[in-house]
Amino acid sequence: MNQVPAILLNNGTSMPRLGYGVWQIPDDEAERAVGTALEAGYRSIDTASVYGNEEGTGRAIAASGLPREEVFVTTKLWNGRDRTWRRPEVLSAFQESLDRLGLDHVDLYLIHWPRPMRDDFLYIWEAFEELAQSGRARAVGVSNFRHQDLERLAGHSSLVPAVNQIELHPLLPQGELRALHARLGIATEAWSPLGQGQGLLTLPVVAEIAERYGRTPAQVVLRWHLQLGNVAIPKSVTPSRIRENLDVFGFELDEADVAALEALGSGPAGRRIGPDPASFDY
Ligand code: NAD
Repeated sequence: MNQVPAILLNNGTSMPRLGYGVWQIPDDEAERAVGTALEAGYRSIDTASVYGNEEGTGRAIAASGLPREEVFVTTKLWNGRDRTWRRPEVLSAFQESLDRLGLDHVDLYLIHWPRPMRDDFLYIWEAFEELAQSGRARAVGVSNFRHQDLERLAGHSSLVPAVNQIELHPLLPQGELRALHARLGIATEAWSPLGQGQGLLTLPVVAEIAERYGRTPAQVVLRWHLQLGNVAIPKSVTPSRIRENLDVFGFELDEADVAALEALGSGPAGRRIGPDPASFDY
């Protein structure tokens, strides 16, 4: 079984540096998929209320028989289209997530999107401060926050997000945001770390590096994340890939290969795959 190293978050909590993401896995499949991941050795699961699979995820965690403290569970507040949030609604949404997961606390609770046009994330963060203080969320953080959103939060709260979970892969290496995170003490967590398995894994540069190390393209990309210091949460429902994506601790990319992968982001293929946080309001 693979031992996944941990990163120390800014509140002293440890988080595995590689986790399992469950976006787009239907609830009735989540129990099997998360069960396979836990059996393979993953000890961190990334879900969200909008994924609709908190119940299946919770059932898999319960069925695994693992002690609760050995599994790091992340879920996220779905802001919801055309909704503006205040403290009570946030606390209710959090409790509903806990109920669906069948847990009395989560390890990390994230604001899913900043939605700057709603201008409500400061109110949401007040509720998050309360959740962190009570220990019902062992750590709190944000997702898809831009430079200006993090600065705005820092101007209003002394609680620094433990994590910012952002789209990040070699086609979108997010160098500036990673540098800001490092300055502020925020861990960088990469969503779609494999570029959703689309064009990235078949690029000749990636295939060539993979061949040289005798690894798969997915393993090389995950290794790149780890060497940059990112937390990565790849998703797959295929048991062999679930295991393959965890088997990335027995080799090291040299500096030139790390740089060659990062350079893909400034080349013609470089691009964002998901929505732009500046305009996303669903
Ligand atoms: P990903 O980059 O993890 O890619 C997943 C896809 O890559 C799979 O569906 C499969 O097609 C392919 N793949 C996986 N392993 C492979 C392998 N070994 N070889 C070849 N192909 C492989 O994309 P993702 O699911 O978008 O992101 C991962 C997780 O990030 C999600 O499940 C979710 O938990 C999180 N996420 C968060 C946000 C957010 O807004 N916070 C947005 C998107 C995703």
